[in-house]
Amino acid sequence: MTAPFALPSAKRYALTQARVLGRSLPKPEGPLDFDGFASVDILVDDGAIAKIAPAGAVDFGDAPRVALSGRIVLPLFVDAHTHIDKGHIWRRKRNPVGDFPSALAAARERWRDRITLQAAPIFSVDFALDRSHMADVEAMLDAHGTGILGAVTYMVPRLREGLKTLFELAERKGWELDFHVDESADPAACSLKILADMAIERRFARPILVGHCCSLALQEDDERQKTIDAVARARISVVSLPMCNLFLQDRHPGRTPRWRGVTALHELKAAGVNVMIASDNTRDPFYAFGDLDMMETWREAVRILHLDYPFADWAPAVAAAPARAMGLDLGQLRPGGRADMILTRARDFPELLARPQSDRIVIRSGEPSTAELPDYDELDGLKGLAP
Ligand SMILES: [Zn+2]
Repeated sequence: MTAPFALPSAKRYALTQARVLGRSLPKPEGPLDFDGFASVDILVDDGAIAKIAPAGAVDFGDAPRVALSGRIVLPLFVDAHTHIDKGHIWRRKRNPVGDFPSALAAARERWRDRITLQAAPIFSVDFALDRSHMADVEAMLDAHGTGILGAVTYMVPRLREGLKTLFELAERKGWELDFHVDESADPAACSLKILADMAIERRFARPILVGHCCSLALQEDDERQKTIDAVARARISVVSLPMCNLFLQDRHPGRTPRWRGVTALHELKAAGVNVMIASDNTRDPFYAFGDLDMMETWREAVRILHLDYPFADWAPAVAAAPARAMGLDLGQLRPGGRADMILTRARDFPELLARPQSDRIVIRSGEPSTAELPDYDELDGLKGLAP
């Protein structure tokens, strides 16, 4: 990396004149610019953020300085919906997916202290009516889970019964719920309303996250608004998966797509719903591209969903909003917190979102990550991956 970003080896150093979104700070630190950024100095000490102050306001003594000269510093990204169990299997997609619990346990151990993983099972809602299946799911979550029960809703005849079973299990165990919902271009797909009404009726107290909700965007205005009101009342969080939905929805051979495939995210946000975006599938049969990179997800989402003007209003959709949905203390830079942040070369949102930010520096506990992007050929030795 070139000089402006060379970090000192010292445990105590100052990042000066960093651009940090006002909403990513716990309290105001001087005036905000047009995009909503504050200009701040950040003192890092022994892996933690020791102090954040308006640029130039505090003398940090002999601490080495890294002059960021107005470059943007972001909190860590939070990806609320992805499928790591089948990522990068594009070339062996006809082969069955490996054993989920052991793959998850291995992944969680390997990435401890670098990535916090929360896992949810995924199966069609009609399987909730199969007692032996649900006994297996309960046992698997007891052994390997993180207190989150998940399923995919379809407009099957016994949808309500299936949902009721899932709610009952989650209530008995104190689990959260995470659903794939109405990933369909059929306006008649309205399981989101049924799910939200059930959550309200049962006074379900734990967090609920729903993903996709594509058909909501294609429903009549009145009907859509009733569903959005119910989602807001039920305090359900909504995650849009814009890259995967753009890829899968409105796909017909020989016909140019007319629809971007995404849910009514602006309307949900306006109703006070906690909304966010996430990556979803990665190089598998559901999405041929992607790299589990929330910077890519953000920049693509800005284009697909118009998450701009003001850009800052939507910046929480990749950090603070999913952190809230997942109960994680992330999404902000705050004194006393771990010195975890992302340094970029950009000075405003168009600069940030124009490039993939491949030269960003990820700082964990005060130290720059030295991890290299893996080569595709590292996958070649994996079971079932035919050359
Ligand atoms: Zn998904």
